[in-house]
Amino acid sequence: MAAGHAEIAGAGFAGLVAAIALADRGWTVRVHERTPFLRAEGFALTIHSNGVKVLKALGVFEPAVAGAMRISRLETRNARNETTLTLTPASALYRISRQHLIATLAEAAERRGVEVLVDSPVVSAKPDGQLVLENGQACKADLVIGAEGVNSRVRDTIGVRVRRIFLQAGGACRMVIPRSDAEKTLEPEDEAVNHEYWSGTRRIIANPCSRDDLYLALSCRDADASGKRTPLDVPSWREAFPHLAAVIERVGRETDWERVLWARFTIIQLSRWSAGRVAIVGDAAHSMPPDLGQGGGTAMMNALALAVALAESADVESGLSLWEHRERPLTEHTQRVARIYNHSTLWPERVRTGVFKLIGRTAFLREQVQRTSNHTPRGYQNEGGGYVSRSHA
Ligand SMILES: Cc1cc2nc3c(=O)[nH]c(=O)nc-3n(C[C@H](O)[C@H](O)[C@H](O)COP(=O)(O)OP(=O)(O)OC[C@H]3O[C@@H](n4cnc5c(N)ncnc54)[C@H](O)[C@@H]3O)c2cc1C
Repeated sequence: MAAGHAEIAGAGFAGLVAAIALADRGWTVRVHERTPFLRAEGFALTIHSNGVKVLKALGVFEPAVAGAMRISRLETRNARNETTLTLTPASALYRISRQHLIATLAEAAERRGVEVLVDSPVVSAKPDGQLVLENGQACKADLVIGAEGVNSRVRDTIGVRVRRIFLQAGGACRMVIPRSDAEKTLEPEDEAVNHEYWSGTRRIIANPCSRDDLYLALSCRDADASGKRTPLDVPSWREAFPHLAAVIERVGRETDWERVLWARFTIIQLSRWSAGRVAIVGDAAHSMPPDLGQGGGTAMMNALALAVALAESADVESGLSLWEHRERPLTEHTQRVARIYNHSTLWPERVRTGVFKLIGRTAFLREQVQRTSNHTPRGYQNEGGGYVSRSHA
């Protein structure tokens, strides 16, 4: 179809990638962000090889990973600090500052003429192609995208059925503290191992996200009142992870607690990903627990794939059906595997250790876990080992 005009709600990973990919295909695009400046909650995220390919397809890979840590191996450990599972990805992953990634995507969008409006909250949308702002203005468009994350207003006003599941296996709080000299000496280059430590129903992910910063995510069951407490209940976490006592004490001392939020793990499933001219992308359509580190990667893949499907179709409605038909099976697989992994929080330690060891030994199970990471997103064209995007060929 001929390119038209798109109005997008939400300048997160999904909204900005959709904006860039559409602009690359000739669309005029305007993005509305509710907050007064572009910001990302949660400090850092891991971008797996599928997300890396999206960044390459958009021509923003090098600036996006500037200062990020390369992750060469993923390791889980049990309460006795024994390794229970080691996964070696086919190609490198990156732990990136969220703020840096958002800024890189926003800059790339603006370079392509995308208008990004901050302080512009959206309240609803209409399937005939209208995005309604909090100030009452109705913005007409050939395509409207709801990409405002898990509490999307666009999604909730276009008549698609929403299934929202809050997981008993909990939520997480995230923080960044300075890396100690000893940590920098242990992993001196911009390359690190992703460590995930388990103890009973609690878990700590502790990884550098830059030369100077250590990113942590502490997660536990929703019913674990002392585990969820912020500022951190240091003695209770130290008791669960005696081998991590030193870092837990630093978290208690060095975290800026005003910036720390408890994020509850939620699954969102929709009866359809679109209605008329309105598409729902990213967490708004398929939020998942973060156990595979694929919420952001899947959001970016689906945003790019949306622009590709529209370019291949006769009109917006058929483009949106083609897009959902192609992308939904992998997204549902990712949600399913992330949910099972997340549920293992509630399993007895012995059972979880046994299952993780089995995954390590069984190619079929490893493929289930790594399928999304190893996927080549639509819109990424690997020609002779290189990558090509429309405006960066
Ligand atoms: C603990 C934890 C760890 C995670 N780790 C990873 C990881 O390692 N790797 C990974 O890929 N994913 C990870 N995720 C998931 C990832 O954070 C999300 O999947 C991703 O942020 C989804 O991007 P999005 O653009 O769809 O939504 P969001 O990032 O939520 O962005 C939505 C944007 O819309 C804006 N907005 C909201 N309402 C409105 C409105 N009414 N009007 C206008 N704008 C609005 C928001 O301010 C925001 O800017 C993790 C999640 C959690 C909770």
